[in-house]
Amino acid sequence: MVDVRYKSSVEVEQIQSMGGDHMVVAAARVSTQGADALQYADEASSAENSGLINYLMKHRHGTPFEHAAMTFFVHAPIFVWREWHRHRIGFSFNEESGRYKTLEPVFYIPERDRPMMKVGEWKPGRPKFLHCEDDSVFDRFVEMKKTQYESAYHSYLNALDMGIDPGLARIDLPVGIYSGCWVTCNPRSLMAFLSLRTHEPDNAKFVSYPLHEIELGARACEEMFSKGWPITYRAFCDNGRVAP
Ligand SMILES: Cc1cc2nc3c(=O)[nH]c(=O)nc-3n(C[C@H](O)[C@H](O)[C@H](O)COP(=O)(O)OP(=O)(O)OC[C@H]3O[C@@H](n4cnc5c(N)ncnc54)[C@H](O)[C@@H]3O)c2cc1C
Repeated sequence: MVDVRYKSSVEVEQIQSMGGDHMVVAAARVSTQGADALQYADEASSAENSGLINYLMKHRHGTPFEHAAMTFFVHAPIFVWREWHRHRIGFSFNEESGRYKTLEPVFYIPERDRPMMKVGEWKPGRPKFLHCEDDSVFDRFVEMKKTQYESAYHSYLNALDMGIDPGLARIDLPVGIYSGCWVTCNPRSLMAFLSLRTHEPDNAKFVSYPLHEIELGARACEEMFSKGWPITYRAFCDNGRVAP
């Protein structure tokens, strides 16, 4: 009997980070200072440059925000990856293979307090959900998912035991199964991602209604971004969370 495991989280671990606010400033200064712009690539002076970073953000001069990188290891269900992988620009991915390794029996189950019930005026484009008040509905939902997950995973293992190509054996695994990816992006591409995959009704100029689970991943990335690029992050928030 395989020990199927359940998780409700999207885990994001920072693997590496290159650059910072000072590099945004230095990259922008090349415009007027040429080779001398390097003098601005100094972390100690970056605090003085919030005015310039704010100007770049406000006027959507985006390229100075590309001379940096951050790499995350993200563990998320496939239904989250289907959305995340749609971000084509300034994102690089490497994902664990379903052809060359056996996929782990780790599946997504929502937290009890995840808003999940459609409301009366539900609309595509701006969907809203309420908490599930009825324990029996939540329990039945979770039980149904667990039954399917376990059945699908055993079918997958049986096919592997029969010697079937792992790339084919996996076809009945559901999108709730977890997968791990390395994700590398730059501050500009991350801000584009955050603007679409976080819900900020009070602060965003263009309010997005993302899937709860991709927002879990986006918020974890946002937290690391805010620490590595505090001035850029502040300018992003102050200017309506619009990617420059
Ligand atoms: C709430 C929400 C609901 C969604 N619903 C659906 C859905 O129902 N169906 C669906 O298929 N997708 C859906 N999506 C995905 C969405 O259509 C985008 O694919 C995804 O958000 C990535 O955005 P992007 O193209 O701006 O990002 P990226 O691919 O990273 O592109 C970044 C920017 O680069 C520029 N760019 C990239 N490629 C091109 C190009 N080929 N030509 C010109 N400019 C380009 C654009 O300015 C773009 O904004 C949804 C997204 C969200 C946030």
